[in-house]
Amino acid sequence: MQDCIFCRIVAGQLPAARILETPKILAFLDIAPVHYGHTLVIPKAHHQNLLDLPDGLWEEIGHVCRRVAQAIQLNLKAQGFNIGMNNFAAAGQEVFHAHVHVIPRYSGDGLKLFPQGSYKPGDLEKTAAQLRQAL
Ligand code: AMP
Ligand code: ZN
Repeated sequence: MQDCIFCRIVAGQLPAARILETPKILAFLDIAPVHYGHTLVIPKAHHQNLLDLPDGLWEEIGHVCRRVAQAIQLNLKAQGFNIGMNNFAAAGQEVFHAHVHVIPRYSGDGLKLFPQGSYKPGDLEKTAAQLRQAL
């Protein structure tokens, strides 16, 4: 897609700090990192989000994410990492070419990703039933 910045990175029309490439996947540094080494793992083909990805490709993305995470632990001395993916605008997706964030983490770095709440009485089972119905 010509107007997609990640497709343009794949095509070499925009610069990126590439760290790993396979025939179908590209990993490069996020330009605005949470911590140094924050990486984006993308399919080279344009798919908008997780639900658009063929199963095999999703598995390959997962495999590359794990390799990147290992490199982050080993050479950047991260003590942990988060894997994250924003899907659709409501979830904060800004670039509509599927991508997985691999984010280095350090003890005491103070990041809190998701504020958590609680279920009203009865709603936990009700919600589980709603989901089971679709699965
Ligand atoms: P998301 O909110 O998951 O869609 O995040 C998109 C990510 O892409 C953000 O973390 C941006 O910092 C990152 N990003 C946007 N443009 C570029 C670029 N040209 N090179 C590298 N990362 C980028
Ligand atoms: Zn694209």
